[in-house]
Amino acid sequence: MASNDKRIAAKALAAAALASLSACASMPQDADRWLITATKLYTAPDQAALADGWVLVKGGKIEAVGTAAPPAGIRSDAACNGGVIAAGFQNSHVHFTDDSFVGAATRAPKELDQSMTRMLTRFGYTTAVDTGSSIANTAALRERIRSGAVPGPEILTAGSPLYPYKGIPIYLSDLPPELLRQLAQPETAEEALAHVRQNFASGANGTKLFVASPMGRGEIRRMDAAVASAAADETHRLGGLVMAHPTDPDGIRAAVAAGADIIVHTTIDPPGAAWSPQLISEMVARKVSVVPTLHLWRYELDKAQVPADVQERIVGLAERQLKAFSDAGGQVLFGTDVGYMTDFDPSDEYVLMARAGMTPMQILAALTTAPAVRWGKEAVRGRLAPGMAADLVVLDGDPAGDVKRFADVKCTVAAGRLIFQRQPVPRHNAAHER
Ligand SMILES: [Zn+2]
Repeated sequence: MASNDKRIAAKALAAAALASLSACASMPQDADRWLITATKLYTAPDQAALADGWVLVKGGKIEAVGTAAPPAGIRSDAACNGGVIAAGFQNSHVHFTDDSFVGAATRAPKELDQSMTRMLTRFGYTTAVDTGSSIANTAALRERIRSGAVPGPEILTAGSPLYPYKGIPIYLSDLPPELLRQLAQPETAEEALAHVRQNFASGANGTKLFVASPMGRGEIRRMDAAVASAAADETHRLGGLVMAHPTDPDGIRAAVAAGADIIVHTTIDPPGAAWSPQLISEMVARKVSVVPTLHLWRYELDKAQVPADVQERIVGLAERQLKAFSDAGGQVLFGTDVGYMTDFDPSDEYVLMARAGMTPMQILAALTTAPAVRWGKEAVRGRLAPGMAADLVVLDGDPAGDVKRFADVKCTVAAGRLIFQRQPVPRHNAAHER
């Protein structure tokens, strides 16, 4: 190259460098720094709410929380402003077993986004605990979310559950035989250990034990105590939590004895069976958490066409279990069993928890701080504070006045990413409604 050409090339390079510099300068200083304003902010269930607040998000974390005038010149999304903000919610009992999640590794992102929106993100869930599914598929789904391909919550999973020996519950009996054969029904402690290890190697965060399986016609098959204890010990050794499906108070007793951390339902069998004060104090002493799933009972009793007054009595029994457990200081985790239950709207669950005597702030704790503590993530999520994950729910009203507002979600933000935004009602429709 001649020296003249060299000079021209150098000039061109310098011009290109300048152009790229000015392109940078014209862009916002921090593209990943943004602001969201609120009429009310719940930083944590045990803190006084803040009026006219804002949250400043940078990357995946909360940079600052404040009131009055927000910092100037920072990008803001008008559609999410002006609501009631709380920390992102955790649904502690879901299943990714719906057909619409099948083939998660390769399924079109748009389809997975729709399924996730329908079941979880439109209701403010930024963390979901899957208490039983195909571990390979759920791990693939989690990977699609983590890679950014699919907007969704953080997923914690129990992977494939363990059932009693020859004890597949009656309500799973209509699964295809080849699928039924794959379900783990360990006969020995060694078999249980192998299942737990395989599950964790595939990405599980815990183990789900069906300590008692309803087999139909009143028969309940129970997991051998040594098998349950071995599975629980190995789960703890691997750093996970043990979730137990109890079926009845004897099932809870067995789960607690085995070392379960979370009981994933209240119980409605046998008819009229309450949780004794001794059982409750043992659960509390051993720091066992409960996921009430009260609306699930209504859903099941509706399916069985049980008359309304009988339903009320049965659901009332579960409400009293929740109240006694909560009053005794037990840790309640919000959860619905969606994925198994096709009724995705959690409004009634909030209403039933309130009817059981929980205050709106106790329900908020069951959605945020309690599950964060349970999973050892209290330094990461569950509250709005600088340095915490930018997991936010924007509600369109104040749940302190009406707990159904917990389900009235405008926007959901997970790790600083907008994963749900409610579409505004079209103008002509809005006019119609007035
Ligand atoms: Zn379930």
